[in-house]
Formats: sequence, structure tokens, C-alpha cells
Amino acid sequence: MSSTTRTTPPPTLTALSDVKGRIITSENPGYDQARAVFYGGIDKRPAAIVRVTDVADVRRVVETARREGLELAVRSGGHSVSGHSTTDGGVVIDLRDMCKIEIDADARTAWVESGATAHQLTEALAPHELVVGFGDSGSVGVSGITLGGGIGFLVRKFGLTIDSLLAAELVTADGQLCRASETENPDLFWAIRGGGGNFGVVTRLQFRLQPLPHFTGGILILPATPETIAGFSALSLVAPEELSTIGNVMPAPPLPFLAAEHHGKLVIFAFIAFAGDDAAAERAIAPFRSLAAPLADMVKPGPYLGMYPPEDPNYRPTAVARTMFVDGIDLSSAQTIYEYLTKSDATMRVAQLRALGGASARVPADATAYAHRSKPMLVNVAAFYQGESDRDVRTAWVTEFAKALQPNDDSAYVGFLGADGPARIRAAYPGATWDRLKRVKAKYDPTNLFRLNQNVAPA
Ligand SMILES: Cc1cc2nc3c(=O)[nH]c(=O)nc-3n(C[C@H](O)[C@H](O)[C@H](O)COP(=O)(O)OP(=O)(O)OC[C@H]3O[C@@H](n4cnc5c(N)ncnc54)[C@H](O)[C@@H]3O)c2cc1C
Repeated sequence: MSSTTRTTPPPTLTALSDVKGRIITSENPGYDQARAVFYGGIDKRPAAIVRVTDVADVRRVVETARREGLELAVRSGGHSVSGHSTTDGGVVIDLRDMCKIEIDADARTAWVESGATAHQLTEALAPHELVVGFGDSGSVGVSGITLGGGIGFLVRKFGLTIDSLLAAELVTADGQLCRASETENPDLFWAIRGGGGNFGVVTRLQFRLQPLPHFTGGILILPATPETIAGFSALSLVAPEELSTIGNVMPAPPLPFLAAEHHGKLVIFAFIAFAGDDAAAERAIAPFRSLAAPLADMVKPGPYLGMYPPEDPNYRPTAVARTMFVDGIDLSSAQTIYEYLTKSDATMRVAQLRALGGASARVPADATAYAHRSKPMLVNVAAFYQGESDRDVRTAWVTEFAKALQPNDDSAYVGFLGADGPARIRAAYPGATWDRLKRVKAKYDPTNLFRLNQNVAPA
């Protein structure tokens, strides 16, 4: 307990007095910093933020919230697109001080406390030339991304993040610590691999580690035309599965390594990640380099950790977005992307193309709560907004753009859902997945204590 950050808690929070971690309320000087989350425009005022230090702290807060009827938010990396990791008037379990990492390099496994970030774990694994595949941002929390599925730089080679998950420990709504794996509470293990934060507070995760002695990756910037966009999509889908790409079609940012004449022009700002030896990487990446003369080419052999450069901790974008799966981007869809991005004047606007397949598609659809295994490509469209009235304009654009690209609107990746509403949460869990999730929810959280998430109500 820190005497500098604790004052007399409000009556409903007195039950937290024996928590070991810091309790931060509006009375404390660090309150505004502690309640800030990644996205700007999310300005909630929790009654208390509890920087838990161990499982006992987590159990204490869960029990208190349940007994006192307090709204409970769970925060790891704070990147929730919908602001679910904070609350107005409730309690936040803030896991950021729980980030211990225990690596067994011989067994190629690691136990990771749930407040660690993707960058922290990747950095700890780097000396062992071992990896877990996370997404395109090092500051995303290991738990948040894992609970959603985890689609990132190594998705085609090693599958989703959940495909490397061996076990997890959770404090469930009854305050008990529970282990989930293929052999212990397998229903819960199935549900947390894509079902989000619906089932309890994850305190530790155990991952299988993949060897990655050779890696080639970095940023490749190509001019965007309908032809290069369609070509990029087609190449990404047929590339060897060692190669995963994330193609951001967007106006070029004013980066120092990009000639000024290209700033603001539409480009494919691509992340290229090849998990294999240098010669094979050259062969696999060559067709992308031939799509058009690259405007910048930073793709080179080097440590995988290089994919996570330092981030500005005070960066707080305000954005609206829409997620969908598509079969691919043909020339007509590429034309749509080009036109929508050209006609918008949002300061930043993007269509992000992520080819899936490879190892991620070999897992049976009913093996995990992430069930969109056969979808070839994930697309996100997004725009930055400045202020509330601009938000409406950008939301309308994003909605219209998404509909033009995917008129069926029947699928979604839960990790990229914002405040999209129940129909879109349902779209994240196709077929029988939804009913199965509701049954698991009813077993482990019958009163829906964990509801600040893409919520699955108990059956
Ligand atoms: C800039 C950016 C880049 C991204 N890139 C990718 C990407 O490449 N691939 C991808 O798959 N996703 C990506 N995402 C989406 C990201 O995976 C989700 O937003 C994820 O939920 C964030 O996790 P977090 O721990 O950082 O967030 P938080 O806001 O801390 O948590 C989000 C939610 O997850 C749940 N949760 C978090 N931790 C726990 C826990 N320990 N126990 C129980 N529930 C918990 C809670 O419901 C919480 O509301 C990105 C998001 C952003 C903002």
C-alpha cells in the first residue's frame, strides 16, 4: 500500500482496505493519469482504480464489486477500442503492476502475468530466439489481445495468439481462482480463446513459445492505386505462410524516411513479417517490391523485436472504425477503397488488410471461441475524428465505406469491435459458438458481473 496515493476511501470501498496494491481515487494527484486509456475521447471517472499486485488483491476487488454492486472494469494494456477497461463510478482492476514473466526456454513455455504488454513479453523472449505472435502494437496488453484471439505479424506461420495458449488462471465471479487448459475446465479454456473478458479476471497466461532464429521484417511503402491494392491483397493471400502482411491503405504520414512529395498521398503502408531464413524471405517479398517502385523499403533481416519500435505513451488518438472479414480485395473492391479514401478529408483514414490462412486456418472452427477460421482476410476501415460533431461525420463515412466493401455485414473480429452494439457482437461468434459461449457464461458468471466487454449475456 502506498501512503502517498491512498486517502480515506468512500464507504463502499472500505472493504478494499486490506488490498496490497495502490488504490487511486479522485482525491489522489495521479488520478487523471491513472484513469487515462489508449483512446482519447474516453473520459470516464472511476470511483477507484486498484493497481492490484497479486491474485489475493484481484479476488478482494472482485468480491467487493459483487457484494457492493459496483460496476467492474478490467484493465491490462488499456487499448480497448470501446473504452471497456474503465468505468464511470465503478472500480477498475488495473493489472499493469502484475507483469512478471517466467520463461522455461528448454520446455519452450512461459507463464506471463496478465498485466504485461506484447512488447514486454517479446523483449523478454528475444535473447532465447523464441516468440509468441501478438499484433501490430507493442503496447497492447497480452491479456486483452489473447482473450480476443490475437491476429498479428506471425498469424500465418504460428496461428492466432490463442493458438499458442496452453493455460490460463482466472478469478471468476465467485472470487475463486480457477485454472483453464485442455484438461482443466476445458469449457472455460475454449471460451476464453476468443470470448473476451466475459468469464473472469485472467491473472496469468501460459504460452507455448515458438522458435524464431531468423526473421525479416519492417515497413514497405508502395504507391496506392486500385491495381497495387488488389495486387497486394492477392499476393498476401498466396504468399508462403512464413509471410504475414498488414497492408494499411492510407495517406502517407510525414515520416523522415519518406520524401516530402509523398506526404499526404495515398500509399500502401505495409508491415512485412517473414518468419524464416534470409534467402527465402527475399524470394517471398520480391513480388511485393515489384508491385510498384517502393517509396520506402525498410524491410530487412533482424530481430523480431524490431517490429515493436518505441511508442509515445501520451499518444491518444480519437477514431471510429469498422471490422469485417472478406474473401479478398479484387480490383472492384480496390477501386472502392481508393475512392472512399480519396474523397474523405479525415486527418487519418485507413483501410487495413490482413491476410489470414496458414496455421490460423488449420485449427478447427469449433476448437476455440474465435470461430472465423475459414475467413481469408480481415479488413478494418477507420477514420480519426476531431470533436463530437466530426465524430458523426466520420462514423457515417466508416459505416458507408464498410457496407460498400462487405454488403453482407455478417462477420466481425471481436478484438476490433468498438461500441458497435449487440448485432455486431453476435457477428463475432457465428453459428453454435454464440449459444455455447452463453452456456459457459451462465456457469462461470451467472449474474453477468463481467459485463464491461463485448458482452455475452448468460444463457
Ligand atoms: C493501436 C491498436 C492496435 C491493435 N492491434 C491489434 C492487432 O494487431 N491484432 C489484434 O488482434 N488486436 C489488435 N488490437 C485490438 C486489441 O487486441 C484489443 O483492443 C484488446 O482488447 C486490447 O487489450 P488491452 O489489454 O490492451 O486492453 P484493455 O483495454 O486493458 O482490455 C480490453 C478488454 O479486455 C478484457 N481484459 C483485458 N485484460 C483482461 C484480463 N486480464 N482479464 C479479463 N479480461 C481482460 C476486458 O474486457 C477489457 O475491457 C489493437 C488495438 C489497438 C488500440
